[in-house]
Amino acid sequence: MIAVLRKLSLISIAVSVSIFTPWVYAQLELFSTAYQSQPFTATQQALLKEHNEQPEISHNQQQLAILYFLFNRTDLLQPLAQTLPAETDPQGAGLKTFLQGFVQFDNGHYAKADPLFESALSQASQHAANTEQHDKWLAIIKMYRAINHAYQQHYTQAIDQLGKIRVEAERKSWPTITALADFLLGDVNYQLQDYEAALTHYQRAEAGYSDANRLLKAHATMARSQMINIVGERPQAFALLEQAITVFQHLEDTSALAYAYLLMSYYFDKDGSPEEALEWIAKSVTLREQLGNVPDIANAYVHYASLLNDNGYNQKALIYGKNSVDLVQGTDDLAGLWDAHVIYANILYDARQYKAAFENMRKGERALLKKARLDMTSEAARLNSEFSLEIEQLRNQQLDHANEVLGAKLALNEQKQRFQTWLMAGLVTLVLVFAVTVIVIYRLYKKNRQLANHDVLTGINNRRKIMEIGEQSFSVSKRYNQPLSVLMLDIDNFKSINDKFGHNEGDNVLLFIANQCSSSLRSSDCVGRIGGEEFLFVLPNTTADEAAILANRLCNAIKTTSEVTDMSIDLVTVSIGVAEFKESYSDFIELVNQADMALYDAKNKGRDQVGIASLPQFSGA
Ligand code: GH3
Ligand code: MG
Ligand code: MG
Repeated sequence: MIAVLRKLSLISIAVSVSIFTPWVYAQLELFSTAYQSQPFTATQQALLKEHNEQPEISHNQQQLAILYFLFNRTDLLQPLAQTLPAETDPQGAGLKTFLQGFVQFDNGHYAKADPLFESALSQASQHAANTEQHDKWLAIIKMYRAINHAYQQHYTQAIDQLGKIRVEAERKSWPTITALADFLLGDVNYQLQDYEAALTHYQRAEAGYSDANRLLKAHATMARSQMINIVGERPQAFALLEQAITVFQHLEDTSALAYAYLLMSYYFDKDGSPEEALEWIAKSVTLREQLGNVPDIANAYVHYASLLNDNGYNQKALIYGKNSVDLVQGTDDLAGLWDAHVIYANILYDARQYKAAFENMRKGERALLKKARLDMTSEAARLNSEFSLEIEQLRNQQLDHANEVLGAKLALNEQKQRFQTWLMAGLVTLVLVFAVTVIVIYRLYKKNRQLANHDVLTGINNRRKIMEIGEQSFSVSKRYNQPLSVLMLDIDNFKSINDKFGHNEGDNVLLFIANQCSSSLRSSDCVGRIGGEEFLFVLPNTTADEAAILANRLCNAIKTTSEVTDMSIDLVTVSIGVAEFKESYSDFIELVNQADMALYDAKNKGRDQVGIASLPQFSGA
């Protein structure tokens, strides 16, 4: 015996379209949560009292109608929707027509509901109120028009429309409308038997409703429970259903409770507890009979009859089976027709009424064939829905990936910046090291040059340097035929000074002589230490006579000054050889040799005197 649960969750969902408070009539608030915070009867009584006190004010009736709509009380809404005054306020334009459409829809007259929803939409659209509330109101009408399409098996259309509304609502940050769109998408997927997709949408709806939307949230919980019973664990389905029932009982949502009890029965039946299943279905039947909604009653009867027959109550099953078949006649509910006839046929068969069973089977088949024709698009729609979900998942993955890439880029940049900082620091260090190295090298170079050109002890030119200067002066004199003289100075008896006073004192004498030589020079003259205690003077533009004058002056100056220094030795004398450049000299060395010879001469003649080369002259000191 088959028992198909269908459609049920959808119809019991309604939305608080607007709440027209008596004080601020113009301030229509769509999706107000005021009705979802207290029991149905309490709100109803308050509104009725208000209505009886001021029957002339139309919004009292509208509020009542919206309450009935939200709690799916079509039994109360149906008469009220007829007498409701046409809405003139732009914010709620088309409300009466919309509610009339909803009554038809809830009674399974989808073909009649269609033009009413269409008309409500055009009435609302004509009032271009351009407010957010108005836009939300249009979205709600469109959603019901879409779900009505789904019940006429136009699934693709329904999914497209609901999907668009969901996207718009999410973009505009309308959480309740977004959640409702998800809920209805769940319903369409449920009809298409894509239970996983339905579960995803119901889950989103449940999470999307705020806690103030208690009733709508509980409906989403119940729908999730129903999906989990199919694709998940039954204990979880039970727990969620009980959770939803607590809310429905508190808010006195009879219609939702009737459906919840039916579900409870279904779970127990599947769980292998027929007695509990029968208990709960009986409760549901009672409630639905009270509510008087024909397709709902028929649906409850179908399940009741099926369960009764399964458990051996064939006679009672015959009665409810017949009742269900009678009730679904005249509705557009093809699935309901199929269910009722096939189950009744099975019951008749068990009762051995084969002819009637056959007839009912044929009627059921006819409904099924009709439905199947319309369902031709359902597979495409299901695929379309799956495709949309996958696209969305892919888009999310892509966003995740983009975020990852961005993160990696940022990290890379950071790393790059760190690297650049280190690089800069490294370069600066390198430049500093380089600069220091250059300075050190330069200093060493200078020192080296100093060492290369100067005598370490006295600091005056060394042999190499004074010879170089002499050679340059020699070639200048030779080219321009200018006078050039040299002096060769040697300390007298220096060896004995060393011997007497020690080497250190000898060095002091050398320093003293070097200072005397330097201070006696003219700017163009040069002097250098060329040997142990020998000094050579290069005197450009100086004749032998002039050089001799200088030599004598130096000789005397050294002698007299040495007497007054604080050196240990009291008297230092020197001998000097003088030579002047002659055209015939081939190089500077020759000139120096002449001076050397003159010096030798002076030494021989007793020291402390000046000898002049080639001039057998003597100048006593
Ligand atoms: P003369 O009057 O003939 O020149 O006799 P002299 O002793 O000066 O000549 P000699 O060439 O015999 O001795 C030179 C001495 O100079 C030998 C050496 O010990 C000393 N001498 C050479 N270089 C230095 C030096 O840098 N410092 C010191 N203290 N003595 C030096
Ligand atoms: Mg000497
Ligand atoms: Mg000497």
